[in-house]
Amino acid sequence: MIDLRSDTVTKPSAQMMEFMMKAPLGDDVFAEDPTINKLQLMAADHFGMEASLFCPSGTMTNQIAIKAHTQPGDELICDAASHIYNYEGGGIAFNAGVQARLINGDRGRINADQIENAVNPNFDWLTKTSLVSLENTVNRAGGSIYEISNIQLIKDICLKHNLSLHLDGARLFNALVVTKESPKLYGELFDSISICLSKGLGAPVGSLLLGNKNFIAKARRIRKVFGGGMRQAGILAAAGIYALENNITRLIEDHDNAQKIEAVLENTSYVKSILPVETNIVIFELTQGIEANVFVQKLKENEILCTGFGGQSIRMVTHLDFSTTMCKRVCNVLATLNFE
Ligand SMILES: *Cc1c(COP(=O)(O)O)cnc(C)c1O
Repeated sequence: MIDLRSDTVTKPSAQMMEFMMKAPLGDDVFAEDPTINKLQLMAADHFGMEASLFCPSGTMTNQIAIKAHTQPGDELICDAASHIYNYEGGGIAFNAGVQARLINGDRGRINADQIENAVNPNFDWLTKTSLVSLENTVNRAGGSIYEISNIQLIKDICLKHNLSLHLDGARLFNALVVTKESPKLYGELFDSISICLSKGLGAPVGSLLLGNKNFIAKARRIRKVFGGGMRQAGILAAAGIYALENNITRLIEDHDNAQKIEAVLENTSYVKSILPVETNIVIFELTQGIEANVFVQKLKENEILCTGFGGQSIRMVTHLDFSTTMCKRVCNVLATLNFE
């Protein structure tokens, strides 16, 4: 089976596992795991931020950030397509007692004017706006990338209205290998950043939340409350170190493969439209009369897995365990599929 359902399906390589087995370990609730401490410093340095916190998932790093930046009853601003709103089980309300003001951005990317219009004035009867959360790349919008100049304008609005600015950077490295911007620019613009090690970077588990020292101290307390205080988890953090050292620049290969798939889809009769492929996510809409589940089943019969993404949409995600040879096979199957 060729699995294009997500970039989370990658398995740790033999070299990564070997590296994990050698990791020195300690109790991280006492902040005594040397491998976790090393990973946290490494990631913070990479983004020019003061500190970071290793967590079991990107949902947890996002949810901790939302809780740390807000008070119950506050409002956060995000795009209607955002992961924090759609795919974290209602955690904004459940964990932080916060509500979301949704904006329809351009393929998941909201702009400074939209944000400024959505900030509530300071009246007793209005919900207090306290946080803006961006996502880069935007998963549900086909892996679209933010322009850094737009983020700079958004930062100005946040400073003007005293709002915190969080980034769900689950796939931030996918954006950075394309734009070639310095990660430190991101570190300067955001109060907190969440990055995932278990997506394109190929680690089996783990995400990091980055911020200043005070923020991360607060985040540590919240992580414990959420049940995310782990013990000798350096064995997992080692995979993260290996991923940061070896698997960032190769992400561009995933993007090349995604573009090859896009090129084939453009010339088929069963595809109505494709979201522009900027990174490793391909989302396309099937022509009327071809049902998503029928398409998914047909690919499965050809030993290719992909997912229905609502209505007539299909999503394919390229990744570390999807080789050029596999890509050729997928392209051949897609080029010859017949729905007559
Ligand atoms: C995967 C993902 C997350 C975190 O997901 P986990 O499965 O909890 O690690 C957060 N944001 C985006 C955009 C994602 O794609």
